[in-house]
Amino acid sequence: MNNFDAIIIGGGLGGLISGAKLSKEGKKVLLIEQHHIPGGCATTFKRKDYVMEVGLHEIDGLDKNDPKTEIFSDLKVFDNVEFVKVPEFYCFKNERVDIVIPGNTKEAIDVLIKEFPEEEKSIKKIFKRIHAIRKEFNNLPLERWKVALLFPIFPLLYPNIVFNTFNTIGKFLDSIIQNEDLKLVLLANLFYYHDNPHSMSLIYYGVAQASFYGGGGHYIKGGSQKLSDYLAKMITDNGGEVLPGNKVTKIITEGNKAIGVEYQKTFGKTLKIKEVFADTVIANAAIPNVINLLPKENQKSLKQKTEKLEKSCSLISIYIGFKKEIKELNNKHYSTFVYDENVKNPSDMMKNYKGSFEKRGFVFVDYSQIDSGLAPKGKSFGVVCAVDYLTDWENLDEEEYKKKKEEVAQIFFKRLEKLIPGIIQEIDCYEVGTSKTVARYTLNPEGSVYGFAQTPRQSGMFRIPNKSPIKNLYFASAWTNPGGGFTGAILSGWFCANEILNE
Ligand SMILES: Cc1cc2nc3c(=O)[nH]c(=O)nc-3n(C[C@H](O)[C@H](O)[C@H](O)COP(=O)(O)OP(=O)(O)OC[C@H]3O[C@@H](n4cnc5c(N)ncnc54)[C@H](O)[C@@H]3O)c2cc1C
Repeated sequence: MNNFDAIIIGGGLGGLISGAKLSKEGKKVLLIEQHHIPGGCATTFKRKDYVMEVGLHEIDGLDKNDPKTEIFSDLKVFDNVEFVKVPEFYCFKNERVDIVIPGNTKEAIDVLIKEFPEEEKSIKKIFKRIHAIRKEFNNLPLERWKVALLFPIFPLLYPNIVFNTFNTIGKFLDSIIQNEDLKLVLLANLFYYHDNPHSMSLIYYGVAQASFYGGGGHYIKGGSQKLSDYLAKMITDNGGEVLPGNKVTKIITEGNKAIGVEYQKTFGKTLKIKEVFADTVIANAAIPNVINLLPKENQKSLKQKTEKLEKSCSLISIYIGFKKEIKELNNKHYSTFVYDENVKNPSDMMKNYKGSFEKRGFVFVDYSQIDSGLAPKGKSFGVVCAVDYLTDWENLDEEEYKKKKEEVAQIFFKRLEKLIPGIIQEIDCYEVGTSKTVARYTLNPEGSVYGFAQTPRQSGMFRIPNKSPIKNLYFASAWTNPGGGFTGAILSGWFCANEILNE
């Protein structure tokens, strides 16, 4: 007899949202998480007086056009988790331009036209296009959009989706803008989604950026752990179980059907293997790892569909506790993207991300600009974040790895001092989290933070669907439909739960 209606492998946002929705609808859920807390990238940790945010700088939208608004209302997230609007979308700085982009369409257009008056027409065109993409995308029956595609009326209802399916943001900007700095300003936060503008899906970039311009950026007061903890509590409050500190080691199948999992304690001496059974198994764990959890005879179909897919980049973060509120040092912005002069046009961006840390583009997020709840009064928390790859850290023994992390931290501190004079002496404590750290804590291969890279051929209708080729096995994570980031993972969990409930 089955012990549960659904077993969820992993407590990242995709797993938590699917678990919260299923348990709200009366299903008995077991969520197994290998780390000692739920959340995956949506977690915090404590150092001294500081709550250090692992993976949330900004979450987009939350306006009436954002599908998350309906999801959060249904799950009563707004009644239990406090969102704080951030003061602007971002600030961009390079040798030539220093500009603040508001998280509001009209104001953003005005600011950009003021800085680049000769590009007025193109600026308006870009905003029109990304909002049209967002509108169509949000109206799509996303859970089943392959079915919708069969209807001949599809291109008439969704022209911006259909005709931009293979387009990239890099190609789109190159086709209408002359000024390279304007392109760089618009692409400043590219690494919130991907590392290369010329392989970044225009549709995904459009939906996400238009959501930031439509509803602004938001932070979760007290840290993203508050959202993860609330969703985990929802599962237990509705009669389910959450088992942190336990790792799924195998998906049990009967023929081509998933029927349960084997799991064991992640840490400790008694690593006794346990079995548990359910009608449905949901993998929040990375899809490439799911293949290895399946018995050999069930691996083939999933392996064939995914083995050639490109993985997304990872991120390096330097989490810093400050003795002072950094806004007192005359820093005026929540998130500031800094690009080196060697980035002259979008084609230089990926080269730069793969180059030396001395010149690599980065963002500094100053949480003292908002009521973040991450530090005691008078102190503050901030993070430096940049694109990172496992190859940056390969072939190092433990000592060399530690040494290199420290060297990289010092490089970024110097660069930060240039941005905000006096900041170095306010540093109280810090931690460095690399792509290796992300891989260790989430088990995501290569520390990928957005699942399969969000390129045109791996996005939208081409993304691995929530329903796997194995009967009763589903996916809810950045690796599946629709994609990565907080929003992508949240939507994936929602689509997955609804698909199961509908069946
Ligand atoms: C530094 C950083 C900054 C970021 N900034 C932002 C931002 O500002 N805005 C934004 O929208 N997104 C941001 N992201 C990206 C976003 O956080 C992720 O894309 C998203 O949270 C991924 O969610 P997920 O559901 O795929 O699960 P993940 O967060 O990848 O978690 C997967 C979970 O499954 C567990 N697991 C895996 N295998 C097993 C197993 N066998 N048994 C048990 N448990 C298992 C892992 O321990 C983990 O908890 C950031 C990410 C990072 C790392």
